[in-house]
Amino acid sequence: MYDPKSLKAEEFISDAEIRETLDYAEKNKDNLALIDEIIEKAKLRKGLTHREASVLLACENEEKIAEMFDLAEQIKKDFYGNRIVMFAPLYLSNYCVNGCVYCPYHLKNKHIARKKLTQEEVKREVIALQDMGHKRLAIEAGEDPKNNPIEYILECINTIYSIKHKNGAIRRVNVNIAATTVENYRKLHDAGIGTYILFQETYNKESYEQLHPTGPKHDYAYHTEAMDRAMEGGIDDVGLGVLFGLELYKYEFAGLLMHAEHLEAVHGVGPHTISVPRLKRADDIDPDTFDNGISDDIFAKICALIRISVPYTGMIISTRESKAVREKVIRLGVSQISGASRTSVGGYCEPEPEDECSEQFDVSDKRTLDEVVRWLMEFGYIPSFCTACYREGRTGDRFMSLCKSGQIQNCCHPNALMTLKEYLMDYASPETRKIGEALIEKELNNIPKEKVRQIAADYLVQIEKEGRRDFRF
Ligand code: SF4
Ligand code: SF4
Repeated sequence: MYDPKSLKAEEFISDAEIRETLDYAEKNKDNLALIDEIIEKAKLRKGLTHREASVLLACENEEKIAEMFDLAEQIKKDFYGNRIVMFAPLYLSNYCVNGCVYCPYHLKNKHIARKKLTQEEVKREVIALQDMGHKRLAIEAGEDPKNNPIEYILECINTIYSIKHKNGAIRRVNVNIAATTVENYRKLHDAGIGTYILFQETYNKESYEQLHPTGPKHDYAYHTEAMDRAMEGGIDDVGLGVLFGLELYKYEFAGLLMHAEHLEAVHGVGPHTISVPRLKRADDIDPDTFDNGISDDIFAKICALIRISVPYTGMIISTRESKAVREKVIRLGVSQISGASRTSVGGYCEPEPEDECSEQFDVSDKRTLDEVVRWLMEFGYIPSFCTACYREGRTGDRFMSLCKSGQIQNCCHPNALMTLKEYLMDYASPETRKIGEALIEKELNNIPKEKVRQIAADYLVQIEKEGRRDFRF
């Protein structure tokens, strides 16, 4: 029944296979010889299967866990260096016809303020985001064919790309909207989106159906097969994720990796990103009513194991997590974070009055983008506003072959430095700029190819002296 190449949800995410995997992992969690063998395999940096990774997740031996964390940290360094890509979510509309029991936008929530941005409001939000320094957005909207049809989403994307305010520009729009048809995915692809992101929420079909009692999202197969339709519609880069806290984390972890294996088996390219959101408090939602919450330690272990299981897949963490948690998991493998996020509709222009709350969840990390950028640099990271790959057509397997050739260091690193330089020139506070300039000078020496290093140095001068923008490798 289990078949990673099948296009049927229940065959590529087979419940029986997950249960056998969990059973196998539980039986082998003290099998140190097997655990060593799996860790040795992971050191080859070619990833792990869901079974192998599940054994590591089940293992409770402190020494072995420390080895897994060290390896994750090393793989993170080798593949992503010390760069962290920055993005912000933009909520377009919180109208939704679904009944997801963990989300305040569910149809039956009558006390949340319902809002949908007009194109004029989209423009104002985008200008506010550009004025902070953001270049990469993830747009979010509830599922509502009447209020948020695909035409509305496309119009918003078009508006977002068209706004050039001062030196600002949104250069990559990732899209997080409900599962849809191949035809609509093709329209999104033609509109020039970056990654299509859709969280599975849970891979457990039975729980999935209970957590989504009403609305089109109730259909487990349609939701789970969405990435295949997206790829059929021409979208190369897709982003997976589960909402940790809904189901047993070991089940979700195995399902997530099986989904990645399925995409690789069918389309020849795995997920571009994996997000790791955890259930949070929100209007009408009390996370304590869900009894599968995970501790910060388990969360860190999951992040480390995703890093070593799918080394080429970017990992995203949002402001749902606190500064302290973000600090820990960035080291272990997270490559992209949001900064200064507002999870309400229209929240960037003006704060919402208390009685008109439209937030999707409480933000734990409430710092400004300038503060986040400075914090990253202070503990040795390069905040990157790079969007080069997608704009150079390096998506899907072209992106993966660049990663696998080891040349990414000659692209990502200079691009990170140049986009950071733009940020420092246009948006940073004097203190952040001072730290950033010193960092750029030091990090320029870490570009492996001399020719690239020289060109990057020249571009940096042009950014500063001639006011030029948007160089990229
Ligand atoms: S999770 Fe998405 S689909 Fe579900 S209620 Fe919230 S916005 Fe709607
Ligand atoms: S060069 Fe490509 S992979 Fe590297 S940071 Fe930029 S967009 Fe991402």
